[in-house]
Amino acid sequence: MKNWDELYAECMSCRKCDLAETRTNVVFGDGARNAEIMFIGEGPGEQEDLTGLPFVGRAGKLLDDMLAMIDLDRSRVFVGNMVKCRPPQNRDPLNVEQEACIGYLRNQVALIKPKIIVCLGRIAAMKLIREDFKITREHGKWFEKAGVQMIALYHPSALLRDPRKRPESFEDLKILQAKIREICDHTY
Ligand code: SF4
Repeated sequence: MKNWDELYAECMSCRKCDLAETRTNVVFGDGARNAEIMFIGEGPGEQEDLTGLPFVGRAGKLLDDMLAMIDLDRSRVFVGNMVKCRPPQNRDPLNVEQEACIGYLRNQVALIKPKIIVCLGRIAAMKLIREDFKITREHGKWFEKAGVQMIALYHPSALLRDPRKRPESFEDLKILQAKIREICDHTY
């Protein structure tokens, strides 16, 4: 396992998959290194690629609003992605790209030691919770892996595309808030 600085340096110059050819910036992830909660999406979009920061476009603004609804602030959590470079035209990251990149996320999780990992969307849930995860049926449900509580929410981009999913997501956020109150030490 690498320390934070070693991991960051390696990731920023990584060329382990073809996404290195088309990216502008590597998006390492952002937030507290001692976060009790990590939010993981599938990959950077256009604005993230341009700025090098996760969840900064319209979906990022919605994520901030979702966090605010349950009294969370970005500075207290960690926000990142399965793959650290933008897939062209925002396509789903290929399995080979996810496999090439997952080691960085594993190392981040090992360093941060979160109590809760929130998968944002189907792709992250299929990689981190279960291969055949069905986001429409299993969002808002808890799973435990290696002592970490895991839950999937609809990706903010999906909520922008289909606002009818928002009431369900609000319920999921309340479920997340209850778990935070139950098991997290920090006051949120
Ligand atoms: S997506 Fe991940 S594995 Fe691929 S080049 Fe970027 S940092 Fe490396």
